[in-house]
Amino acid sequence: MLNLKDGSLFQQLCFINGAWSAADSGETIDVTNPATGEKLGTIPKMGAAETRRAIEAAQAALPAWRARTAQERSVIIRRWSELMLEHQEDLAVLMTAEQGKPLAEARGETVYAASFLEWFSEEGKRIYGDVIPSHQSDKRIVVLKEPIGVCAAITPWNFPSAMITRKAGPALAAGCTMVVKPATATPYSALAVAELARRAGVPDGVFSVVTGSAAGIGGEMTANPLVRKLTFTGSTEIGKKLMAECAGTVKKVSMELGGNAPFIVFDDADLDAAVEGALISKYRNTGQTCVCTNRFLVQDGIYDRFSEKLAAAVAAMKVGDGLKGETQQGPLIDMAAVEKVEEHIGDALAKGARVVTGGKRHALGGSFFEPTVLADVSPDMLVAREETFGPVAPLFRFKTEEEAIRVANDTEFGLAAYLYSRDIARVWRVAEAVEYGIVGINTGLISTAVAPFGGVKESGVGREGSKYGIEDFLEVKYLCIGGI
Ligand code: ADP
Repeated sequence: MLNLKDGSLFQQLCFINGAWSAADSGETIDVTNPATGEKLGTIPKMGAAETRRAIEAAQAALPAWRARTAQERSVIIRRWSELMLEHQEDLAVLMTAEQGKPLAEARGETVYAASFLEWFSEEGKRIYGDVIPSHQSDKRIVVLKEPIGVCAAITPWNFPSAMITRKAGPALAAGCTMVVKPATATPYSALAVAELARRAGVPDGVFSVVTGSAAGIGGEMTANPLVRKLTFTGSTEIGKKLMAECAGTVKKVSMELGGNAPFIVFDDADLDAAVEGALISKYRNTGQTCVCTNRFLVQDGIYDRFSEKLAAAVAAMKVGDGLKGETQQGPLIDMAAVEKVEEHIGDALAKGARVVTGGKRHALGGSFFEPTVLADVSPDMLVAREETFGPVAPLFRFKTEEEAIRVANDTEFGLAAYLYSRDIARVWRVAEAVEYGIVGINTGLISTAVAPFGGVKESGVGREGSKYGIEDFLEVKYLCIGGI
């Protein structure tokens, strides 16, 4: 059993309209620890009926919540953030147990998750409208920003807390209410976040968490006309399906989908800084983030030195159970993830790539995989086209800036790109030329609550975090006042 200081943060029921609830059928789903394969507990297997009730509760709670002042909502959301920080250690242990990431990363994610609540508790006070100079002298034009209404959120397993607060923070601060479906692999972080929402004073129905059947819950969320907005983080494949489902009731959507991030290292880069950035951007969360580098594009003159230094650092990484202090690389989320990584490596080797370090399942067994570096990778390989979502760094060689830009953009995705160079003119040229929503320049770490996170092309719609993130939960209403 997990050793938590506050045992009531480990909830095995759903949180609907302020009450802890089982599924109507009484059915449950097992949740396991990916590092050990042990069962952690169960969660309710809910479907459309329970989701409908959560949505109706969110609709019923909406008028009173949106009528509060931004300041009143802010106090509650800020308290929620403070409670997450007070319970950082328990939240981190829960997260590592269900997700596998090293405890240090889980502690970091908890602070990151709380930061969205803190940031938006403030930003909610700054939802300004507009007064527009009128087109006729007897009229006045005023623009109001209003909460969209009931929002539904579907979140992934790679950031079990932060992907929830990044959505709930702006939604609740704007005056919306929300029903969340967390990933089935990582429900306990979501339920702990719900328990802290309750303690912070979030009113009944304003924030609910429903676990269970993705199709049942997702289907109700996308079909129910009371839901005005769906916000989703996950794969492009499911995102497209949800967008299509939302078309039936013309819901607003925000989509944070897959990526195929290039990491471009030019000959003039600071080699040590590039290797450090590469490690962070590739191996964080065992390569399972949508902004993780998928392709390293390395210029001819620095390729061998970069490959050697990166491989040495990667080979030294400690793989193991995230709950053990020294671990730097946890397991992959499940065996399907391992198989995908193996498929990508196998395909690359068959087409002429070579393993510099790693390359196979880890001796620890289960879903542990050796952190891997592949050299001599070419654009015809699967690793060039699909998101690997694992600890594999494929190194492509390029000669000219034009070639790097062309290869970087040769994908349907457009979330994050990284580039390392010390030539300021080149930095500007390349940053402007790459078709991505986020560009990390001489850094491998770009996520923060204060900046707009989101992609172009098939990587998504909308932005999360920053002042732009709250706009996604607002409607514009224009008042035309005549007879003046
Ligand atoms: P990944 O598991 O790679 O993060 P997915 O897109 O498969 O990405 O899952 C992200 C979230 O979407 C999870 O909460 C998952 O349960 C949910 N999901 C998967 N399929 C559907 C579906 N058909 N309808 C609604 N939600 C879904």
